[in-house]
Amino acid sequence: MSVFLSRERRRLAPYAPGEQPRGEKLIKLNTNEAPYSPPQSVLDAVSAAAGGLNLYPDPEGAELRAALAVYHGVSPRNISLGNGSDETLAFAFAAFGGAEAAFAFPDITYGFYPSPAALYGVPYTEIPVDASLKIRAEDYVGIGKNIVLANPNSPTGEVLPMADIERVAESNPGRAVIIDEAYADFWGSSAAPLTKRFENLLVVRTYSKSRFLAGARLGYAVGDEGLIGDIETVRYSFNPYNLNSMTLAAGIGALKEETYYKERWREIAETRDETQEALRELGFVTTRSMANFVFARHESVPGAELMACLRERGVLTRSLGRERARPWLRVTVGTPEQMKTFVGAAADAIKTYCS
Ligand SMILES: *Cc1c(COP(=O)(O)O)cnc(C)c1O
Repeated sequence: MSVFLSRERRRLAPYAPGEQPRGEKLIKLNTNEAPYSPPQSVLDAVSAAAGGLNLYPDPEGAELRAALAVYHGVSPRNISLGNGSDETLAFAFAAFGGAEAAFAFPDITYGFYPSPAALYGVPYTEIPVDASLKIRAEDYVGIGKNIVLANPNSPTGEVLPMADIERVAESNPGRAVIIDEAYADFWGSSAAPLTKRFENLLVVRTYSKSRFLAGARLGYAVGDEGLIGDIETVRYSFNPYNLNSMTLAAGIGALKEETYYKERWREIAETRDETQEALRELGFVTTRSMANFVFARHESVPGAELMACLRERGVLTRSLGRERARPWLRVTVGTPEQMKTFVGAAADAIKTYCS
């Protein structure tokens, strides 16, 4: 029981991260990290940057923003950097949310969104996804709220076509429409180009999943200058040096390795589709994931139980607490070998131990 929290802070909803095992030998398929290391050139850039740790990093991150601007075909003034995209998302809730400026997001989506909403006192509505766990764009058309949609969505991996994003942005003028593209590289589509047409559209991206740099903490937003200016105002109010010099260097280095990454994304997508297929053969129902994870359920074992059974077999996965998601299990796509082990463990679990 907290004694010192102020009255305003008593309704926090802190996010519960997935397990990061210490020491134990487990196949880690629970937090959508990559099974691969970033390229050597990125590690070298980080080491080089460590030589300058006596100095503050560039608070503007000018070199990285310039490189990202080229990558997305925008201006550096259209980019804001975050210590992980969670930070950028939190800045967006702080900037655009308020007692009179509520947010809306799906009931089955990234579990972090309620946390900054509670921190900054922003009311929010959770809009149910449909029976097949897809987001229905109509539910967001003209609702006059700030909106955040993960695309591909987590934990389902289902995607919303760009035409739907246009409708949602166009019909909610004066409100921020935030597209969280944590997994977009695995799909190959991005709403970033649409930010030139819609001044209220903010695209948030991360290096954690598709750039294999979860430990570096690097995310960013792409949007109209006005929207980005507001995020920057919050950033300078919170932590002007939010990115350390090694992370900035990693971010620049990774953009020079597009060929390496594209090849890995292709492999991961292939392994994902094979895993989905193998699970269906075992009697699982899966969503149509376009991300680096699969989402599956089996009628004989609810998600949390299956997760526990798999952990005993050395495989970490993730089940999600909320009622509608309870039958389901989210499994990160690892190497083909790791996925073979997972599928074997899952087959065993549904046949013997768990039933
Ligand atoms: C992993 C994830 C993030 C957070 O990524 P960081 O950049 O590591 O903070 C944001 N959104 C979604 C949907 C995610 O799955």
